[in-house]
Amino acid sequence: MADTTMDKLVSLCKRRGFIFQSSEIYGGLSGAWDYGPLGVQLKNNIRDFWWKEMTQMHDNIVGLDASILMHPRVWEASGHVSNFTDPMVDCKQCKSRFRSDQIDLGAACPNCGTKGSFTEPRNFNLMFSTHIGPVHDDGSVVYLRPETAQGIYVDFKNVVQSSRVKVPFGIAQVGKSFRNEITTKNFIFRSCEFEQMEMQYFCKPGSDEQWFSFWRDQRMAFYHKMGIKPESLRWHRHGEDELAFYAKDAYDIQFLFPMGWQELEGVHNRTDYDLGQHQKFSGKDLSYLEQETNERYLPYVVETSAGLTRNVLMALSDAYEEQELEGGDVRTVLHFHPAIAPVTVAVLPLVKKDGIGEFAEHLEHELREDFATFYDQSGAIGRRYRRMDEIGTPYCVTVDYQTLEDKTVTLRFRDSMEQVRVPIADLVSRMRSETRQYTRA
Ligand code: ATP
Repeated sequence: MADTTMDKLVSLCKRRGFIFQSSEIYGGLSGAWDYGPLGVQLKNNIRDFWWKEMTQMHDNIVGLDASILMHPRVWEASGHVSNFTDPMVDCKQCKSRFRSDQIDLGAACPNCGTKGSFTEPRNFNLMFSTHIGPVHDDGSVVYLRPETAQGIYVDFKNVVQSSRVKVPFGIAQVGKSFRNEITTKNFIFRSCEFEQMEMQYFCKPGSDEQWFSFWRDQRMAFYHKMGIKPESLRWHRHGEDELAFYAKDAYDIQFLFPMGWQELEGVHNRTDYDLGQHQKFSGKDLSYLEQETNERYLPYVVETSAGLTRNVLMALSDAYEEQELEGGDVRTVLHFHPAIAPVTVAVLPLVKKDGIGEFAEHLEHELREDFATFYDQSGAIGRRYRRMDEIGTPYCVTVDYQTLEDKTVTLRFRDSMEQVRVPIADLVSRMRSETRQYTRA
């Protein structure tokens, strides 16, 4: 970790096509990022890994994809219109804006260096607003959602009535959220447009503490399963001063990012606050009827709320290593878990001639059905391995003269750089079982 600096990650991400600054040719837009060919694959893989773990692997969690634009009353009910604010100060000299809890108000302005130039702190709402329809007046204001959770609460009744789910059950959702963040440094850690992976678990009041503890265990186990180093993850329990006004209890999973320990995901006991608010503001009964007991109640909610784009930064920083090899050579390698690596297997012909190139190309096409593949025939084989190490490809398959004779190939493992001879007929099952058993060296 000591060598993992943000600058190195940013440069690798740009060089190899993981992440670009948004609108770069126009000078860039702060707080917005583009995911390039490898980045979007990594992000989709993390999303799919989460989705499978949270829906397929549980018998009582269903999915949802709510719209980004919602009725403006949603955000009055949720408290975002009145409470979703950060205290801000402006520098009177250069007009730069800062979060007052993140700078020393007695010190000079970090931008222009003027002393004593800050305005009094004012609350600044983080929601982006726009207008819907042809008329731009107060009645047409809508917000870009600042979190995906509210879409889940608002559709709670629809899901209960249409899916035969019974409390306790969960609704999972992945999607974009928007916050007008003022401090957007540290690469993609905090951006104005980002993605969240949230699950709201509806349970009977009184059972909430038990589910809260269950989901904390599940969520930490998820990151271990994704191959993240356990020593780079820890819990942080919210103290009285940090707890949101509606929350009964809250823990963050923190990750050791290059700039230090920071929040990756929140697990919150939100009580019946959200359903209660939407019931009040919409005038619709959102209570749940428990058929076995004929009891009616508003379920409590345990929320697991992770940043998908922040997970991408975690995966990159956790995976990054500059490894000194025998002879003083240094290789850059990304130790992604094979389940999230953008490319799973590269097929490399040792030489192009004598039909070896065609054979390898054909093999690569066959493997496409099972894995994300890549074909590379240019340059020395060692250099091709290094290029694959640098983007985190866990397996390389090399085709050579012997392959033409006995239908075996060399399978090379990224982490250990070990090479084994494998019959082509066993390749798919071998890589599948390696992936299932993968542990970080
Ligand atoms: P902070 O206090 O750091 O602004 P938060 O505690 O308000 O964040 P939540 O509202 O709990 O964050 O959001 C849940 C998760 O969504 C966070 O753990 C984080 O992973 C992600 N997230 C929140 N805001 C951003 C952002 N601006 N950019 C990227 N990810 C974000």
